[in-house]
Amino acid sequence: MIEQPSQSFTFQFPASRVLFGQRTTDVLQTEIEKLNISKALVIVTPQQRDAGNQICEILAQNNAGLCDLAQMHTPTDVTQKALDQLQASGADGLVSIGGGSTIGLAKALSIRTGLPHLAIPTTYAGSEMTPILGETADGKKTTRRDPKILPDTVIYDVAHTLTLPVSMSVTSGLNAMAHAVEALYAKDRNPIISLMAERAISQLCFGLRALAQSFTDQGPQSAEPDTFARAQCMEGAWLAGACLGMSSMAIHHKLCHTLGGTFDLPHAETHAVILPYAVQYIGDAAPSAMAAICRALDAEEASHGLRTLAEDLGAPTSLAQIGMPEDGLEHAADIAMQNPYWNPRPLDRSAILDLLTRAHQGRFGAA
Ligand code: NAD
Repeated sequence: MIEQPSQSFTFQFPASRVLFGQRTTDVLQTEIEKLNISKALVIVTPQQRDAGNQICEILAQNNAGLCDLAQMHTPTDVTQKALDQLQASGADGLVSIGGGSTIGLAKALSIRTGLPHLAIPTTYAGSEMTPILGETADGKKTTRRDPKILPDTVIYDVAHTLTLPVSMSVTSGLNAMAHAVEALYAKDRNPIISLMAERAISQLCFGLRALAQSFTDQGPQSAEPDTFARAQCMEGAWLAGACLGMSSMAIHHKLCHTLGGTFDLPHAETHAVILPYAVQYIGDAAPSAMAAICRALDAEEASHGLRTLAEDLGAPTSLAQIGMPEDGLEHAADIAMQNPYWNPRPLDRSAILDLLTRAHQGRFGAA
């Protein structure tokens, strides 16, 4: 397909510094010096204390302690407790190591205090590349964008993803892929974002396939971790996160936000289930995006290519499987129609209810 030239766009590269590779964390000391941090508080979840302690060791005399309070959806009461610990520690900077939940807490602390933030992502969710912060107070999640929320430095170290279980790697990778897919038909896309998005999808597709194939039900097929596949996934996650940070998302992210926020469904799994249905909904309304997805997946049709990938990877394929109540579907369709947003294909309540109903049953085929 011949691509049409872009009509007009504004493009600004994000201001964060990115290091990518194997054992990149070895240069952490030098990187915090560049940020003028003399003592850093290390942020983790309780589940990743060991990874946090490793970082404290590398920081040595520049370590101001470990804050292991991070949890899903960045609750503001948890942020307040972490803020108290931060102030008592005398830290003048933050190092986060973990997934979107951990990076979310460090972003919340950084925007409240103005302290520099160095992020070391260990999942593929992509939060480290965005100026976006979602926070929960009184059971309600609100999201804001501010360039100051973007971490100052991001260290991608493949070594820190080797512990991510394959099932979580798969759903997290499909979460990342969703950012890149929606960037391809975003209203504010531009040629650079489109190139990044296509490469992100391709790297994630081939990296995740290799990763899933390297494991059997009995465990890994080889004693050596597949660092090549992990590096492909991580590069895809970086590019996809950058796409999320630089472009507006559409129906897929809005549906996942609704389902996650209202029915407390797991974040990455919800993205994994919804993506093929959302792309099928867009279909002919974004032909060049569909062509790019096909090229990246080496598939003949975009939504089917995404569904086949999810099935091959053993990802969840129905909302019922991840805890969505059937009697919530009408309510979900109503919420998805509120606060109208731009989408390549206009929003139609009955078509959205049909999408959700089929996604609930895991029934994928002609819409
Ligand atoms: P997560 O950060 O909640 O991590 C899930 C669990 O996996 C945690 O217990 C974590 O400690 C553990 N874990 C992470 N990396 C690991 C590793 N390498 N080895 C072993 N265990 C590991 O999951 P997530 O999917 O990365 O993040 C989801 C959250 O991030 C959601 O709240 C979502 O809204 C947010 N998010 C925000 C943005 C943004 O731009 N603001 C983007 C994506 C996701």
